[in-house]
Amino acid sequence: MKINTSLASLPAGYLFAEVAKRVKTFSENNPDADILRLGIGDVTRPLVPAVVEALKAAAEEMGTPEGFHGYGPDFGYDFLIDAIIAGDYRSRGVDVGRDEVFISDGAKSDVGNLQELFGPDALIAVTDPVYPVYVDSNAMAGRLGAYENGKWTNLTYLPCNRENGFMPPLPDKKADVLYLCYPNNPTGTVLTKDQLRVFVDWALKNSALIVYDAAYKAFISDPAIPRSIYEIPGAKECAIECCSFSKTAGFTGTRCAYTVVPKAVVYDGVPLNRIWGRRQATKFNGVSYITQRAAAAVYTEAGRRQTQETIAYYRENARVIREGLQSAGVAVFGGVHAPYIWMKTPSDMKSWDFFDLLLTKAHVVGTPGEGFGPSGEGYFRLTAFNTHEKTKEAVQRIIRAL
Ligand code: PLP
Repeated sequence: MKINTSLASLPAGYLFAEVAKRVKTFSENNPDADILRLGIGDVTRPLVPAVVEALKAAAEEMGTPEGFHGYGPDFGYDFLIDAIIAGDYRSRGVDVGRDEVFISDGAKSDVGNLQELFGPDALIAVTDPVYPVYVDSNAMAGRLGAYENGKWTNLTYLPCNRENGFMPPLPDKKADVLYLCYPNNPTGTVLTKDQLRVFVDWALKNSALIVYDAAYKAFISDPAIPRSIYEIPGAKECAIECCSFSKTAGFTGTRCAYTVVPKAVVYDGVPLNRIWGRRQATKFNGVSYITQRAAAAVYTEAGRRQTQETIAYYRENARVIREGLQSAGVAVFGGVHAPYIWMKTPSDMKSWDFFDLLLTKAHVVGTPGEGFGPSGEGYFRLTAFNTHEKTKEAVQRIIRAL
């Protein structure tokens, strides 16, 4: 049997493993150190009452002959799809059809699986730094060439940095697929409608596809910032959008997400909606009824209000980090419409050196920017997913360490 050599030769996903290793070594040598973690991208606040009620009610229903549900519809129950369309799209003037929404167990699976739609030689472009799943899933499929000096030879990197205001340049060579994530992980930055329009126009002109990851859209507080790429004219012909209840409603452990594949997205005469449906129906057996009921509860009046309170809690942490570091003269980016704050390391320090400095001097853990791609070197990611008290304390300690 011949193995998938592209998968076997993938460089180790060392970022969070290396972070954990260094933290473990430090705490073993310093057992009294009270370590504050602003590194992890997982939510910490509990599920809101409206969601818990829906979970309980659906579990009760499942225990009755009338309310029992076995396999559900392949692409999700209409009650959830309708709630998504009304709450996330129609409310913003975007027209999405029932058969264009695919419910799934996570945006990670969807953004990782979508590459099965692309030909083996499709040319891929990503912003840099980047959420690693877009890159690794294409590398596993053998599309990215060789990994040399921290870069894939057949991948187009679009550097996002302080100098270009974190606005990615257009690809300067042919690309068939461009992954965009806004609000961005890891930089926490957003694109305005005019900025996003540049990419939609580029995709339409070049017959390219945009995979748009909007996992953090719930953090957008300015109505002028697009929450969906479909707010841009023409995007329904060239973009697939992935969304998730993970950060919107604390579903990281509950698992529910959705991907929109408009019928008008057609390449080589083939609607991607049809082949994504074919792929999902073959390899995925749906999200549990209980979970989909819980996700639908996010769109009720109480669910909306309560999840907004949770988002506001994290937003306040982001503000504390951003303003605290700014007042100490640190260059910080993002953190307004996202739970991530992207800071420049002092004196262009290497991001792992800065990681070690913060860990040993401040007992604070963040994530070195280099782990998200070559353009992340010299930057550092802090997250808003901790308590108010620990976040304030961490910011004070970082400032003292600097
Ligand atoms: N997309 C981005 C940009 C993320 O940062 C994450 C999780 O951190 C995900 C997707 C994963 O979302 P899910 O929990 O729905 O799989």
